[in-house]
Amino acid sequence: MQDEIFMREALDEAQIAYNLGEVPVGAVVVFQNQIIARAHNQVETLQDATAHAETLCLRLAAQSLANWRLLGCTLYSTLEPCLMCAGSLILSRVQTVVWGAPDPRHGAGGSLMNVFINHPIHQVEVRQGILREQSADLLKKFFQERRKCKISLTS
Ligand SMILES: [Zn+2]
Repeated sequence: MQDEIFMREALDEAQIAYNLGEVPVGAVVVFQNQIIARAHNQVETLQDATAHAETLCLRLAAQSLANWRLLGCTLYSTLEPCLMCAGSLILSRVQTVVWGAPDPRHGAGGSLMNVFINHPIHQVEVRQGILREQSADLLKKFFQERRKCKISLTS
């Protein structure tokens, strides 16, 4: 149940994003059983479409190890990575990616496409569905509230 323990930490990051009015996605990177980086989505805060939790977290992990090759590292994300983040995971040589909820709109780990299968340079091991409900519920709550806000603004 190691995966659940670390996914709970990623969920804590997603909750931080939620509290900031960001789409609630969180990530942590684990190396030798220790969390070496944690991040949450900051697209609104930074006004940067690429400031996804996973990519931010990979940058921090590389800083922490002083090495862009994240060999032996596992990234936990509450949401299936998008095309950019999946690409970043491959480029970073991450050993394993674990995610919670699938992302039918942007997921590049099988939902929309699958960039992890048969990659010629680096094979990332994939596990999915860890604390899926919790991750999905937080996202659902976020978008429901946003819709409510929009309705009250326009009415
Ligand atoms: Zn992404």
